[in-house]
Amino acid sequence: MQRMPRASTGPEILIRRELHRRGLRYRVNHPRLPGRPDIAFTGARVAVFIDGCFWHACPDHGVLPKNNREWWQSKLSRNVARDREKDAQLDTMGWVAVHIWEHEDPTQAADAIEQLWRSRRQPPPRRPGRTPQPRVV
Ligand SMILES: [Zn+2]
Repeated sequence: MQRMPRASTGPEILIRRELHRRGLRYRVNHPRLPGRPDIAFTGARVAVFIDGCFWHACPDHGVLPKNNREWWQSKLSRNVARDREKDAQLDTMGWVAVHIWEHEDPTQAADAIEQLWRSRRQPPPRRPGRTPQPRVV
């Protein structure tokens, strides 16, 4: 089986380039976030993962190899379970995890990411009727 590069695969670069072209700025493989997201918007707390169809068991292209089927089956389902675990960890940190399949159109993926980023980048509006607490020195 061909070895897959760990980071900076083709579709990931295309999506990053498209986001950058639109003026969005982000961290790449943020080391302090669960799962080291491929793209992370720290202000909006949006973590983007570009998932390989094989390794993350894409419903359209996630074909199991003929040899060692059961071994692959359990390996890939562990991958998927780990993905969901990281998503949950991000969620408790106030982040939202977005997964893009590597087979998806990079422009459409960038559209979805940009939309989410726009909806989350503003700080939440202050609740009406709540006055700031006086600061105790
Ligand atoms: Zn796929």
